[in-house]
Amino acid sequence: MARVFNFSAGPATLPEAVLKQAAEEMLDWHGSGQSVMEMSHRGKEFMSIAAQAEADLRELMAIPANYKVLLLQGGASLQFAMIPINLLRGKASADYVHTGEWAKKAIKEAKQYGQVNVAASSEDKSFTYAPAQETWKLDKDAAYVHYTANETIGGVEFHWVPQTGDVPLVCDMSSNILSRPVDVSKYGLIYAGAQKNIGPAGLTIVIVREDLIGQVLPKTPVMLDYKTHAENESMYNTPPTYGIYIAGLVFEWLKQQGGLAAMEKHNRDKAALLYAFLDQSRFFVSPVAKADRSLMNVPFTLKKAELDEEFLKGAKSRGMIQLKGHRSVGGMRASIYNAMPVEGVRALVDYMKEFEAKHG
Ligand SMILES: *Cc1c(COP(=O)(O)O)cnc(C)c1O
Repeated sequence: MARVFNFSAGPATLPEAVLKQAAEEMLDWHGSGQSVMEMSHRGKEFMSIAAQAEADLRELMAIPANYKVLLLQGGASLQFAMIPINLLRGKASADYVHTGEWAKKAIKEAKQYGQVNVAASSEDKSFTYAPAQETWKLDKDAAYVHYTANETIGGVEFHWVPQTGDVPLVCDMSSNILSRPVDVSKYGLIYAGAQKNIGPAGLTIVIVREDLIGQVLPKTPVMLDYKTHAENESMYNTPPTYGIYIAGLVFEWLKQQGGLAAMEKHNRDKAALLYAFLDQSRFFVSPVAKADRSLMNVPFTLKKAELDEEFLKGAKSRGMIQLKGHRSVGGMRASIYNAMPVEGVRALVDYMKEFEAKHG
């Protein structure tokens, strides 16, 4: 059976080597006589899997010792609530940067717990750019500043780290975590659902500076308190064990590829192929400001929108799936995360050339 090139925004394609290893280990993990799915989360086998996954993530991202790594559930969407619940810490408001669909959801949820100051927004141009830092209206008394490093739907990525002085910087990195090196020490908290660039859906990673933990709103459920998970090594209750195992295999794979600097080069090369083609095309259009184009999610439209369906059908027949754009943007979107090989992007560009020659 031939595997397709899967351009889905998430759940997304995984490295084939990881899937093969998981298949080999499915019935009997390392001579334990059991699948990882069947293991006690408190047994020594699974404890070693989780500890190795965390150690590898810490190494890949060079996470400083004063940060906790929490392996949670509930997706990035639950973090939209957990962040204000945990980080308001008696302050009245938080600053949010509004850059699209995901920022909008984060803002909406935060409003339930405190005052939200929208410090900057790109709504004036349909969320097609990242507002420059000079335009941000930050409040020095804000509990934190929240931004979305990569808007998965709009295809807009911050290629710089905002400066917020002493106010903790909080980042939704769901769709570009591990795509390049980041200086974790510049952040108060980083969070990401696993299903874009890490592993299977069901695991959510939170990297949080220790001093920000422990001042939740009154009556917060124990499961929504970072302290619960920090004090229990993410094993207060049953963690998403199989997701953690696969994420661990992906971290190992990333190390074998040369780590995040090598990943950045790989991702830049892939994105350059696609953007270079879009820039010279008279038929396909990229809606995003050049400086803020995402290396991970590349939306584009056809000059003749009535050909969208035909484009998708032709792609599918060539083994390329999930190219339909999000309903809020229309057109197409190619998600080209870490695990998308350069051959996938080449195949897409070749097909686009052919399609343009025929219909342009
Ligand atoms: C997918 C995504 C989310 C939502 O993630 P869930 O895990 O489905 O809750 C939030 N933010 C960004 C940037 C995303 O890409």
